[in-house]
Amino acid sequence: MKITNIRFGKLSVPLITPFKTALRTVDCINDLVVIIETDCGSIGYGSAPATPVITGDTHGSIMAAIDDLFKPNLLGMDVANISQITQTIQSAMIGNYSAKAALEIAVYDLWGKLHNAPLYKLLGGGTPSLSTDVTISVDHIDKMISDANRALADGFDILKIKIGKDIEQDIERVIQLHALTKGKAQLRLDVNQGWTAKQTVYATRQFEAQNIHLELIEQPVKADDFSGLKYISDRVCTPIMADESAFNVKQVVELIHGNVVDIINIKLMKTGGISNAIKIADIAASLDTPCMIGCMLEGSIGVAAAAHLAVAKSHSISKIDLDGPALGQYDPVVGGASFDKSAIKLSEAPGLGIERIDGLIEL
Ligand code: MG
Repeated sequence: MKITNIRFGKLSVPLITPFKTALRTVDCINDLVVIIETDCGSIGYGSAPATPVITGDTHGSIMAAIDDLFKPNLLGMDVANISQITQTIQSAMIGNYSAKAALEIAVYDLWGKLHNAPLYKLLGGGTPSLSTDVTISVDHIDKMISDANRALADGFDILKIKIGKDIEQDIERVIQLHALTKGKAQLRLDVNQGWTAKQTVYATRQFEAQNIHLELIEQPVKADDFSGLKYISDRVCTPIMADESAFNVKQVVELIHGNVVDIINIKLMKTGGISNAIKIADIAASLDTPCMIGCMLEGSIGVAAAAHLAVAKSHSISKIDLDGPALGQYDPVVGGASFDKSAIKLSEAPGLGIERIDGLIEL
């Protein structure tokens, strides 16, 4: 199975409710779809969203990187040699994690088709179903309360609360959401780099003094502020998780070895795809550090790949934050994984199991 062409499509799905974090507001899932063709007729699908403020990638930069550099290197390569292909992708240029991720997702999809097995089975096997949390966007408290109420009614038992706007309002948001959800759902906080280290200690000590048990606090400080994360971890009991601070294996080793954080959030768009995500999951497991699998605001192609990895690495990846596709008003990807509120079910069809993509605009 040799790679003969790489082309692009665009996929847009309107959101049920606008997605708001400390960094941005979005009302649509916009994925760039990467389609890899082979000499035997099999097609591999990958995708990536544009997340300029997180990875630095836009759809235009992803397409240019693939056309200019990755594509000439990959044409003619045999999908059977998956390690050689992922090595080629990772070493072709620095950065450009989203382009690398979209390509790797499509290649792993093809690798599953080559071996006629769903991807999770080739990555290690496991039970092909997961339960995800749901994101509650940062907003006025009344809106967050009503979103949380709907999430509870929808059966979610873990809510990921986006905060990081204003420290005093954020504390009030958490106190009120905790009162609402106590005994019904666990809370994860995602600060998206919105606080300082001292603010985080100040807020977390208040939560702990009021018996507000949070499952974790994610990325309270700036991505490059490892000393700030360490300052927090040394002073609070609540587990601290790295997201934007943890892109690659070296960072993860530093974060774990230095007792900088307690949990690592793996996202394919940060690691540059599946091959490095496997390494991070295995290293974290060997150092007794749990991982979350997360996603950007993205649709069900890329998120299905993350779900396959999470199933196969469940000993390491114990926390699931893959609510991207379920935030959309519909899923245009037919076959593949199904995303129904908190329930994620993987397809038993080869690779990612995608049969077709409705509404795909060829570029
Ligand atoms: Mg995050």
